[in-house]
Order: sequence, then structure tokens, then C-alpha cells
Amino acid sequence: MFATLRRSTSLVSLLLVGLLAPGCSKAPKTPRTDVRILLLAVDGLEWDLVLPMAQEGRLPHMRRLMESGSFGLLETFEPTLSPAIWTSVATGKDRESHGILKFQVRDRQAKDGRRLYNSTDRKTKAFWNILSDYGRRVNTIGWFMTYPAEEINGVMVAQANTSSREEVQKGDGIHKPRLERDVPGQVYPMSRTAEVLKFLDRSDAELAALRDEMFGTFPHPLGPAETKFWKASDFSFRADSTYAMIARKIVGEGDFDLTAMYIGGTDTVAHRFWRYMRPDKYVDRPSAEQIENFGDIIRKYYVYADRVIGDLMSAAGPDTTVIVISDHGMHEHNVDNTFNPEDELKYLKSGDHPDAPAGIFIAAGPGIAQTKLDKPFDNLTRGDLGMVGDVYDITPTLLVLLNIPVGKDMLGQPLTRIIEPEWLARYPISTVASHDTKKWLEFQASRIVPAGDSEEYRKQLRDLGYVDDEPLDEADDAAAPDNDKPTAPD
Ligand SMILES: [Zn+2]
Repeated sequence: MFATLRRSTSLVSLLLVGLLAPGCSKAPKTPRTDVRILLLAVDGLEWDLVLPMAQEGRLPHMRRLMESGSFGLLETFEPTLSPAIWTSVATGKDRESHGILKFQVRDRQAKDGRRLYNSTDRKTKAFWNILSDYGRRVNTIGWFMTYPAEEINGVMVAQANTSSREEVQKGDGIHKPRLERDVPGQVYPMSRTAEVLKFLDRSDAELAALRDEMFGTFPHPLGPAETKFWKASDFSFRADSTYAMIARKIVGEGDFDLTAMYIGGTDTVAHRFWRYMRPDKYVDRPSAEQIENFGDIIRKYYVYADRVIGDLMSAAGPDTTVIVISDHGMHEHNVDNTFNPEDELKYLKSGDHPDAPAGIFIAAGPGIAQTKLDKPFDNLTRGDLGMVGDVYDITPTLLVLLNIPVGKDMLGQPLTRIIEPEWLARYPISTVASHDTKKWLEFQASRIVPAGDSEEYRKQLRDLGYVDDEPLDEADDAAAPDNDKPTAPD
């Protein structure tokens, strides 16, 4: 049914075929299914907010997906560090198997003995490699730990885990990976770099207006803590806005089997502003004025995320299978703390996810079964939500929906409960021992990171409290992954 759109081969994609990484040509081809997939990776999205907001009508697109498809809890693992979890989502494997343990890795060549992980450190194929092997067209935009961009059968806009020299010189903060103007290796194919970076210009030009539209103006002057939090959240909004524009363009081109996009600001604002949304839970309550300013800010960001999802759904058309997932949930944190604005940001988290709260799974469209509800949607409570599966199951499920064999070496299983039985009858699940070939592993080991300076980015991660106490010893790496745990200021 997508024949016209999907088979329309642009010059760029013709050129791409000849440039693919090794291993692509030898893989057996399997017939394409009628499904094409939009995968929205929304960091830290929490059911305690999504369900009531969907019932109130504030998340119309997610509600529509829930009512017509399957939804529930998505189990995750500790430590809830985004690079590790999102790589598990993309590979179907645990962090030891895929090799992205956290943010930083020991490297004697590096200035202070450690450097940031990057996509060349991944020890196994991700769904974008596997789909490319099988001739499927796949795009990823902003997916965690994809820098430097890989050669895939589609477009990859990497989430650059580095920073620009320009920003370093200006002393501006970079708090999380994002698209940057002068960092090589962010876009594949390279021929689309200028086009992609133009969206960064457009996003910068439109950001202030979009900010006003989504978050309104604050009725009261901002206090010092709030100024700090708001300023420290803006990078995430800018990154999401840019990725959303790029994703809309690429989805609008129509020629894909899977397009994946990452949204990060939902996590960022929740870390900073949970205390303003649930002040009664905290010993140190914000003032009434600051609660009026920021009490609804996390929910407003959820509304923004829902709008991005809706935009991409309309660009993709009604016959697209849409999957929305989060890597973990979120809840109140540091409830007994005093939140002194003089403290470093990492000590000021009032929302967090140290104990791996379940994330969300929502899917609807061709191939997806409909969850049978035993009460009206509006009467559902969090306790009614079942566990759909875990983060390892996403890639096996994508493969089944696209009629590609599942790797037996994957930890995850296809989520057959959410797939229509007729679908599974038509496309029986097949397996291969592993999608990783010796040739690909050698190729992967030979990849290099284009020259860039990651020191500033690491400094910013420290400000977020992510990498400060990260142990360097291998043994500690496995046993004490507590670098995401802020300690109380004294
Ligand atoms: Zn987080």
C-alpha cells in the first residue's frame, strides 16, 4: 500500500547503496511487509503524567494511539543511564553485550584518562544496521550514542556527543548531546549536512516564539533557582525543536521503512521542576509564586512532545505504525533536601529515576493489536496498566513487524502479545544465530571519530551530575553504577 512512496528512489538513495558498510549485500533478503514504522523515543516519559493528561485531553495524539492500539509499562534496568538504555533498546542486548556502559570510558590516550563513549564503541549491530542489511530504508534522528553517524540505508542525524569550539570559546554551556554547526560526522549521508544544518538555523530563529507558544509567559519574576533551572533546560528544547523539524522533513519524503526520533527535554525539565509540580512531597517547598510559574512546566513539555508526535504522524500518514517509548519513568527525588540555588545543578534534582521506574510503551497502526480494556479509558488508573515487556524487546519487535529475522543472541523477545495474530500467521517469526558478522565487527572496530573536542561536553555532563563520580575501574563499572545519584548538599 506504500508502494508508490516507498519505492520512489531518490538519487541520494541510489548513491547510498554503493556506500553501505560491509555485510549488507550478503544478507538474505526477506519480503517487505506493508508496515512502515515511526518510532518516537521520548526520554523519561512517565505514566503518572501521561495517563491523566491523556484522559484530560491534553495529549490527544498519544490518547488516539492508546485507544486504537496497545499500551502499558516498559520495564527498564539500572543504572538508568540514557546511553546504555537507548543502546539496549536499539540492539535488543544488555549493556555488557553492546558495550555502552555509561557516559564515559577509560582511555589512556585521552587527556585525563577517560573519554565519552561514542558509536564506534558499540560491539553489536543496532536496528539501523540490521535494517540496512535487509535493504530496508531506515532513518534515525538524534538517537542517543549515534555519534559519529554510521553508514546506513537512509539518513542518520547523530546525537553529537561532542561540542563546538565556538561554544567552548564563548563559554556557553552544552548540557547534553545535540546538533552543532561545526562538528564533523553528525550527518549521513554527508551530502545532506548543509540541508540538516539549515534546520538548526531555522530552529534558532523560531525558538523564542515557539517557547512562548508552548510555555507562555511567567506571571511572576523568576527566583535565582528558577532562573538557573530554566536556563539549564533551554538547550534541550532547542535540540528537540531542531530534531523535530529534521524528522518532519525526512518523514515527509515518505521513502522509509522505519524512522526513529529522540526527544530529550521531557527528562531534562522533569529533573529540574518536579518539586514545583508536586510541592507537597518536599520539605523545601518552592514559593507560591514560583509554583505558579513552574508548576505546570513538565506537563507543558509533555504537551509539546505530544504535538511533535502528532506532527510526525500527520506527515507519515494514517497507514503508519507508530510506537512511542520511554527509557524509564520519573518520580520525586531528594524530598528532604534544601534546594540552595548556589549549589551545583547536579545536587538540585527534584525529579529522578535511580531505581529504574518503568517507562511507557504505546503502539498503534498496521500489525498492532488493540488492548482490550475492561473499563472505559477515562476510568483507567496507573494500577490498571500491564507490563508489556522490557527495553530489550523493542528491536526484536521492530524486526518482526518488518519481516526480518530476530537474532538468537538478543536478550529481548518480540512482543507477540501486541502484534495482531493474523500478522504473525502471515509473517512467521524467523531467527538467525546473530546479525553480527566477523566482517562487520572488524569494520566497526576500524571506525574512527572525526576530530572534535569533547572536554566541554563532559564538563556539562558533570554539571548535570551524570559523570562526576563515575568510577574508572572495570570492576566498579559493573558493580557501582551510581554516578547518576546526586548526594544531598551540606
Ligand atoms: Zn534523566
